[in-house]
Amino acid sequence: MFDTLSDRLTSVLQNLRGKGRLSDADIDATCREIRIALLEADVALPVVKSFIAGIKERAKGSEVSQALNPAQQVVKIVNEELVNILGGETRRLNLAKNPPTVIMLAGLQGAGKTTLAGKLAKWLRGQGHAPLLVACDLQRPNAVTQLQVVGERAGVTVFAPEPGNGVGDPVDVARRGIEEARRAQHDVVVVDTAGRLGVDEEMMRQAADIRTAVQPDEVLFVVDAMIGQDAVTTAEAFRDGVGFTGVVLTKLDGDARGGAALSVREVTGQPIMFASNGEKLEDFDVFHPDRMASRILGMGDMLTLIEQAEQAFDAEQAQVAAQKIGTGELTLEDFLEQMLAVRKMGPLANLIGMLPGAGQMKDQLAQLDEKHLDRVQAIIRGMTPAERADPKMINASRRLRIANGSGVKVSDVNEIVNRFFDARKMMAQMAGRFGL
Ligand code: GDP
Repeated sequence: MFDTLSDRLTSVLQNLRGKGRLSDADIDATCREIRIALLEADVALPVVKSFIAGIKERAKGSEVSQALNPAQQVVKIVNEELVNILGGETRRLNLAKNPPTVIMLAGLQGAGKTTLAGKLAKWLRGQGHAPLLVACDLQRPNAVTQLQVVGERAGVTVFAPEPGNGVGDPVDVARRGIEEARRAQHDVVVVDTAGRLGVDEEMMRQAADIRTAVQPDEVLFVVDAMIGQDAVTTAEAFRDGVGFTGVVLTKLDGDARGGAALSVREVTGQPIMFASNGEKLEDFDVFHPDRMASRILGMGDMLTLIEQAEQAFDAEQAQVAAQKIGTGELTLEDFLEQMLAVRKMGPLANLIGMLPGAGQMKDQLAQLDEKHLDRVQAIIRGMTPAERADPKMINASRRLRIANGSGVKVSDVNEIVNRFFDARKMMAQMAGRFGL
């Protein structure tokens, strides 16, 4: 569902790669692109504005991480702001201290409430609860039957008004449903309510009456993510008319642009708690803002990598190394330290596997030989501190000693030492060219 947005954001952020520094103009241009991408994805304008303002302020501000390059820093900021907009922490269901917990569903007709009731019931069962579904949608023909079908599939009991009694009173059904739950020891009650094609006063009043009568622990506003900007107006109408404690986004499997998902939480101030992404009962999950954000950014585990880099990184050590690279003074000791820092982040194949686009490289990665790195490490460790500090002094007899000491061939030691000199020369040249 977020494919287009994801593609655009990924390419905007990729344009920053390789830049040593980001000027304010770079940041402005990036923010402009992000703004267009969000608007095209149908995100509500006030949400876009506050999102962009947040990113700009942080990217231009003093927030500088030495562990990350400028592009990574912007990715990190955009990700964190996305997580924020999506609600920050994952919001768990609020369970009543004295069961049954009552969950009321509200939303427009066709939003997916009845389907959701079944999904939620099945999920609750999986969590060890004994839910009861209560059919209070007495407006729509067949709504009760539909709930009964869904309940059967989910393997949960459905409480419904006896057929043949005319339209019936949904408030009364809701009350009796909860009594029934108490009697039959169901610890969670899910109340399905009537929806209309558009927001109308009677529907709002009915939902508000049910809310007042049963005092639910959670009122979930169910909204079809495919209705775009309308999701925001509908959400506002329900917030003012009935009030709700959480949002459920449905039809996230559709090919819509995803703006609703990004706007609803920010506009209503209520968290998105669940997401539905298909017609089957299993197509449903708890909504995790952080996972959704990284899905939208299309950066896979790049974000994990950024986190790990920050953790493993010793700023001071790296700065010293960077200076030495510039002056061609890098020693084998520095080299070893940097290598250890990188390896602290986990197996190299995993690290590279987390980079976007690493897919095609998987075969080569499989051959990436950790043993080779172990050998390099062992060889450097077999050197005396003086040799590490001044590798030029490593003559033929020292090479033989190092080889014997670390259990490798002299040619292996030669290879490492020679490659180190080449690399040091190349890095110094590069540093000179980039004015580091
Ligand atoms: P209600 O009027 O709010 O109770 O909505 P329903 O539960 O009857 O759902 C309306 C239609 O949307 C039905 O055809 C459902 O199968 C479909 N539906 C519900 N949730 C999803 C979803 O997450 N993805 C897709 N693709 N369809 C859904």
